[in-house]
Amino acid sequence: MASIFSNPDFQIALLGGGQLGKMILSEARRMDIAVRVLDPSADAPCRLGAQHFVQGSFMDFDTVMAFAEGAQAVAIEIESVNADALEALEAKGVPCFPQSHVLRIIQNKVAQKQFYADHGLPTSDFQRFSTLKELTQAIDLGRLAFPFVWKLGQGGYDGFGVSVIRIADDLAGLSEGECIAETLVDIGCEIGVVVARNKIGESQSFPAVEMEFHPTANQVEFVVCPSALPPEAIAEAEALALRVSEAFNAFGLLAVELFYTKSGQWLVNEVAPRPHNSGHLTIEACSTSQFEQLLRCMCGLPMGDSKLLHPAVMANIVGAEGFSGPVRYDGLSDAMRTPGTAFHIYGKAQTRPFRKMGHLTSVGRSVDEARARAAAARDALQVRA
Ligand code: ADP
Repeated sequence: MASIFSNPDFQIALLGGGQLGKMILSEARRMDIAVRVLDPSADAPCRLGAQHFVQGSFMDFDTVMAFAEGAQAVAIEIESVNADALEALEAKGVPCFPQSHVLRIIQNKVAQKQFYADHGLPTSDFQRFSTLKELTQAIDLGRLAFPFVWKLGQGGYDGFGVSVIRIADDLAGLSEGECIAETLVDIGCEIGVVVARNKIGESQSFPAVEMEFHPTANQVEFVVCPSALPPEAIAEAEALALRVSEAFNAFGLLAVELFYTKSGQWLVNEVAPRPHNSGHLTIEACSTSQFEQLLRCMCGLPMGDSKLLHPAVMANIVGAEGFSGPVRYDGLSDAMRTPGTAFHIYGKAQTRPFRKMGHLTSVGRSVDEARARAAAARDALQVRA
């Protein structure tokens, strides 16, 4: 059978040149799949390792169309790309991962939430507002009660654009724009499931991972697999994630973030139609990583086995508080002596407080052993300027 490997012209066009792109590139290199990358920054993590690196805006229609000319498939590694360009490429017969109709829904948290409601997918209750003023009027009229979670429709990222509102004073400083007010969920734990579907009818979910939060800083400290939840609950989460992907009719990867409530109910929080931070540990922990699975989906190759090989724990390597500027990795030699631990350094020239500069994944005979290794390696390493 002819495959992409006998087509010397086969090339993937990737929109975005950050760390997710860099990890796609390293799998692509291993499988000898050519990838060109578009990113606005000349020193993006993907500047090395791409067949061609083009500096330009993935938000600009003409730039994306010119960049993708002649490519056989298009992928994204960031959601803020020009969805009109993806639609135009699809009209020309170029498959895009994600498909433009999926991306459009996901680019707006209001549309995304409405999608779950319309498709009978469990999600927390919510009200939609066209403006912040409408929301405050709803409070004044007694139609919206504290506490709730405010989420900006478009333009939020990494926690900006999401705020727990407990009292009227918390409203100060919220961004203007279309938004939702969600019921504050009594979360037992947060689970991520990356799902893959291809066009030859195969689908698979990667093993569910559990996000462990730092006890005081409101940040994910470790991503852990397997989760400590009972196997029946995990099976429900993986089945629900697959249902979400089918409802979107999404091909390629869909990372599904779920809440498991204290009363044992699953709720969909949000999804990302691309490789995801919660799936990084699949590189060391699974037979096939999320990055390889995406490439297989894009290239018409069969799905790889996504089974967990051994317990694994991932920790992000983030910029230390109080340091901004050209990056330095202090304590790296000590950190790198940790057994069972792989380091991924993203190659960002500048550090900032809490900027994701890399991650590490530790494997072990048990989750506890993997977590202890990940904690030791992370604590030994300081990202400073
Ligand atoms: P972002 O896209 O910025 O990551 P999320 O929608 O994932 O935003 O929300 C960030 C975090 O806020 C979640 O991981 C969760 O801890 C908390 N959160 C979000 N929605 C709710 C909710 N309805 N109830 C309780 N906590 C929530």
